[in-house]
Amino acid sequence: MSLIVQKFGGSSVANAERVFNVADIVTKTYQKGNDVVVVVSAQGDTTDDLIKKAAEINSNPSKREMDMLLTAGEQMSASLLAMAIEKLGFPVVSLLGWQAGFETSSAYGSARIKRVAPSRIRQALDKKNIVVVTGFQGINKYGDVTTLGRGGSDTSAVAIAAVMHADLCQIFTDVEGVFTADPRKVPGAKKLDCISYDEMLELASLGAQVLNNRSVEMAKKYNIELEVLSSLTRKKGTIVKEATKMEKMLISGVAKDEDVARISIIGVPDRPGLAFKIFSKLSANGINVDIILQSVGRNGTKDISFTVNAGNLQETLDILSPYLDLIGASSLTYDDHVSKVSVVGAGMESHPGIAAQMFEALFEANINIQMISTSEIKISVLLADKDADRAVLAVHDKFFNGNNLDDLT
Ligand code: ADP
Ligand code: ASP
Ligand code: MG
Repeated sequence: MSLIVQKFGGSSVANAERVFNVADIVTKTYQKGNDVVVVVSAQGDTTDDLIKKAAEINSNPSKREMDMLLTAGEQMSASLLAMAIEKLGFPVVSLLGWQAGFETSSAYGSARIKRVAPSRIRQALDKKNIVVVTGFQGINKYGDVTTLGRGGSDTSAVAIAAVMHADLCQIFTDVEGVFTADPRKVPGAKKLDCISYDEMLELASLGAQVLNNRSVEMAKKYNIELEVLSSLTRKKGTIVKEATKMEKMLISGVAKDEDVARISIIGVPDRPGLAFKIFSKLSANGINVDIILQSVGRNGTKDISFTVNAGNLQETLDILSPYLDLIGASSLTYDDHVSKVSVVGAGMESHPGIAAQMFEALFEANINIQMISTSEIKISVLLADKDADRAVLAVHDKFFNGNNLDDLT
């Protein structure tokens, strides 16, 4: 007998028919003699709809009250799924995050899981129940409900799998696995049979929403193999696992992140210590800086450009504006109509040609690159929003439809 964690995203439980489809998958797994813990997201667009409802009442509600509201979405889908499983004649119990033992930090809206104490889940399993747990939520030290940030149900599932030493953790979604690019936007995207934690973590962090990046981080930390698969077609999905257990891929995928803004500090005096001052100020305020570009000093000054998450743009400007005089810079400019397009692949470490091929694809599509950043397993470029979709297609085409892979291997 195995313990299997199955997570179902919003589209998998969007309506009554889909809820019964999930109930069928879950009960078939149970009938094979497995213990089954199910983690569910809110139905369809419920979370977005709740956010809109809040805005009708208060344009700036407290984060605590937002979490009170948003956790309701998962409460609905968990109870509805439990009712469907009941109707099929199986023993089932649904639990809210706090009942399932999810203790989190107190950061409403982006809480981190600190501990999962699964005694209640365990008891329910011992009584031969299927257990349905609300994803995306927990409770903080004040006894208030919290949410884990958008897409957080994936992390809830991996946390349960880790703490209960599950034999399998399946993430059911509306596509058949992890693809070489978003299959809804790139018709030629190919499904991957498997991908390493590190590559998946890069893809997820660089905009591929199919898995939440924290869930991948946690899966890597606790060595939990994940299977990403469709609840609708029920075909074999993509396995996310340790790199040593698989063949290295040259390129595993292309991702796009629109949630980016570029800031430039113009006319920074060309002397040591100023970059340190600027970026330590931002990091002290918890702002994550991504791509950084510093121009070569000219006439005693230089320009420093960097990107932040679009949600942090205003705060970054607010922090830096009063600081300009102090460091002797002349002005601050920004652009929030930019996107980041990245290629990820463990094989690029040993293949220096990848960056040139990516740039060639962009050149052929007549797309201007604003900034570039690289690490061992990824290359990212910043470009105008209007070019981003075309850039993804062009870069994907270069690596997956041309003969370039053969040239390089
Ligand atoms: P769920 O509600 O099941 O959590 P999400 O909407 O969060 O589903 O994630 C699934 C979506 O991720 C897919 O519908 C797809 O459009 C998008 N996606 C983006 N990049 C990729 C990729 N590389 N592979 C698969 N899906 C991707
Ligand atoms: N319902 C939440 C969201 O829409 C959590 C999730 O789907 O994982 O972000
Ligand atoms: Mg998701």
